[in-house]
Amino acid sequence: MIRPGCTLGILGGGQLGRMIAMAAAQLGLRTHVYAPEENSPAFEVAAEYTIAAYEDEANLVRFAKAVDVVTYEFENVPSETAATLSAHALLAPNAQALAVSQDRFLEKSFIAGLGIAVAPFAPVSSEAELAEAVERIGRPAVLKTRRFGYDGKGQVKIGPETDPVAAWDEIGRAASILEGFVPFEREVSVVAARTASGAFAAYDLCANEHRNHILDTTAVPAGVSPDTEEQAVRIARSIAEALDYVGVLAVELFLVTGDGSERLVVNEIAPRVHNSGHWTLGGVEQHVRAVCGWPLGETARLGRVEMRNLIGHDADAWEEILAEPGAHLHLYGKTEARAGRKMGHVTRVFPDRG
Ligand code: AMP
Repeated sequence: MIRPGCTLGILGGGQLGRMIAMAAAQLGLRTHVYAPEENSPAFEVAAEYTIAAYEDEANLVRFAKAVDVVTYEFENVPSETAATLSAHALLAPNAQALAVSQDRFLEKSFIAGLGIAVAPFAPVSSEAELAEAVERIGRPAVLKTRRFGYDGKGQVKIGPETDPVAAWDEIGRAASILEGFVPFEREVSVVAARTASGAFAAYDLCANEHRNHILDTTAVPAGVSPDTEEQAVRIARSIAEALDYVGVLAVELFLVTGDGSERLVVNEIAPRVHNSGHWTLGGVEQHVRAVCGWPLGETARLGRVEMRNLIGHDADAWEEILAEPGAHLHLYGKTEARAGRKMGHVTRVFPDRG
């Protein structure tokens, strides 16, 4: 039984780790952050931190033994790291959630295996497989590395004129998957939480807009039919149950419309708190509650909400944002405003529910 006063271990020291540590502190937990980078934003708000590599077994074991439960802020936790931690502490979400979400081929296979719609896909590990995949899936298509892709990195579109081999060269001939291009109308996501005893709660579906491949704004409601909302929650629930998932999970989906109908196609899952959940009042706390096996929090929405990321120098407007009625500012404590770097976010709540 985890109680206030216990210690939550957090792997990863970025803004998500920082938010988890702050939410944990609010509930009376101690936190210990483990990250390789000095000056990690999460260190500033944690009771303890360890600076060490994710492959450093001795430090991982020491960390795991010093905490009551371990969670993480990123899905690329190496499988050996997850195994070492699991041997000495409770790891939530579990290693299977990591394995599935780290590899786009395993991820799509797993989700399709649950009878949930994904884009047509095929593995690519040789020129022959690439040619076969293009033949079967057709164009346009998107070639993506199986691992380590994020914010549009490690992927290239294959249009009518693209030489597939040249496209594969562009992403370093890494083990990849080819996906059929989904002609989506909107990108949406659902943020949900599940506990070890099977309690489940989901926030309203939200609509996400990207700029330069980075999330720019999240708006709720997403402007879809109630049926589509329900379907998104059913999808998130069935993925969470199939993974015996514990914690907050984000499911990113494409909304495809036509002839007045709406259809959802899963793009990917994130086994962690997620940027598209920052509009919620308690979405990060929800992760802490779930990981600790505590009652889940309320997910009802109070109004129409818009969350905007503050990227690079956007955060220079902090004073104006602070002065704006109805705006809630969050800054991540990063000193250097590099282009494309997430520095903070601002949430605006409008009284009409949308
Ligand atoms: P991902 O890294 O898989 O989230 O992809 C980054 C972005 O590329 C998505 O947010 C979409 O805008 C676009 N994208 C990825 N896969 C597809 C696809 N199969 N069809 C259409 N657009 C896609």
